[in-house]
Amino acid sequence: MTSNSTEQGVKEKISFQLTSEIIRHRLKSEGERFHANDNISDYIFPGELETLQEEVEMRVKELLKSLLIDIDNDHNSQDTAKRVARMYLNEVFKGRYHKQPNVTDFPNARNLDEIYTLGPISVRSACSHHLVPIIGDCWIGIKPGDKVIGISKFARVADWVFSRPHIQEEAVMILADEIERLCEPKGLAILVKAKHFCMCWRGVKEPNTSMINSIVRGDFRHDPSLKQEFFELVKQQPNGLACN
Ligand SMILES: [Zn+2]
Repeated sequence: MTSNSTEQGVKEKISFQLTSEIIRHRLKSEGERFHANDNISDYIFPGELETLQEEVEMRVKELLKSLLIDIDNDHNSQDTAKRVARMYLNEVFKGRYHKQPNVTDFPNARNLDEIYTLGPISVRSACSHHLVPIIGDCWIGIKPGDKVIGISKFARVADWVFSRPHIQEEAVMILADEIERLCEPKGLAILVKAKHFCMCWRGVKEPNTSMINSIVRGDFRHDPSLKQEFFELVKQQPNGLACN
């Protein structure tokens, strides 16, 4: 075999591989983690998201067949696999497969150092244990540093971070890391209050329970009065912490 035909053979072999196998190989050879709440967009090359979607569609079809749903004759289920694949990759889990939305930072020209709070920002996720929705509200408190970002960008970044399978505690940590990376605030506080469908739709079937968790960093961590101010500001807002 000439080296050319060997190369051709390798290419053919690769072309028969599933897209997920190719991407997984890439991730593993770089030693990159690919847990449910990791973003892997740097390892997905142009055109691969489309073939990955076809692969997921094929797998969802198999899942529906194993659930003994007659996808050939049930008019409601015929295109379900296609819809679910598209929804996973481009909507509800887009934060895994798509790159972070563009966020431009600006210098904090007036050296603003008063804290401000944003919220509620709607967040939607899915629990990584059952893949059912987690839906809630998020509040963000910032004590600005040298850089600032537009307030709508917080909502875009939160949407991108939460659009992955998660557990709530890790989602909040990842969001905090991303915001710190983007605008390097002197202090950051995040609070999330969310309903978990794995508690209200299945399991204990308790529809009124919310989970609230928060994270405080920088000056919010070191200065109890600042932390207090953040929680007071959140409480004053509609849909704030009054647990109803
Ligand atoms: Zn769950």
